[in-house]
Amino acid sequence: MRRQIVAGNWKMNNGLIQTESLIVELKKQSKTSNAEVMIAPTFTNLWHAFEATRQHDIEVIAQNMHFAENGAYTGEISAGMLKSIGIQTVILGHSERRAYYNETDEALAKKIDAGLSDEMNMIFCFGEELADRKAGNEEAVVESQIKNALFHLDASAFKSIILAYEPVWAIGTGETATPEQAQDMHAFIRKTLAGKYGQEVADSVSILYGGSVKPNNAKEIFSKPDVDGGLIGGASLKAEDFFAIVNAI
Ligand code: PGA
Repeated sequence: MRRQIVAGNWKMNNGLIQTESLIVELKKQSKTSNAEVMIAPTFTNLWHAFEATRQHDIEVIAQNMHFAENGAYTGEISAGMLKSIGIQTVILGHSERRAYYNETDEALAKKIDAGLSDEMNMIFCFGEELADRKAGNEEAVVESQIKNALFHLDASAFKSIILAYEPVWAIGTGETATPEQAQDMHAFIRKTLAGKYGQEVADSVSILYGGSVKPNNAKEIFSKPDVDGGLIGGASLKAEDFFAIVNAI
């Protein structure tokens, strides 16, 4: 059985006070599904969030990290620093990081290596842009993102890697991929993994969908056989909406 996960990516939202109150609200929600629940607050609120959810079934994860362990990288945070406060999972390669901070597949490959050597779990994000899909190139783009960032790894690395397919045209736009589009791409991703690492590895990796998942569309998307959960942006900022999505699995 693959892990089923719903992860909330808070992005650059919520100061300490809002973080405290959103966590209070999240803890009031009841979980009726088997999904693992993760939230990714900003760096400044990770420690508070970690402490505040200690007795709770919510994993606090980071939104990014640097590839180096320490040194002259002003403004950056390493895997070791995250681990030092109890954080075990990090999101890597979100399309906003790729677009605004120039994160290439090659740079992400280095981050993945750093995460593995620090025994971090990673949610690796990728997805095509609208122009790619219009041109019918979505599979080629996704395949190259996966190959360039991950195919230097041994099969055993995939125990620490969760994939998140996030078509860029669906992020924050209100435009979701249809459940069929998501399923088709997830099946393609699994086939790509199977081609390199074998079916057993491919079947063991959780593949999340992200891009305008909301309480009213989550159930249909999550019902698809190759969709193992979601990476949720906007709808993760309201406790009730987020748990409606968690419980849609
Ligand atoms: P969205 O964001 O749910 O607001 O579209 C998803 C994401 O960026 O991970």
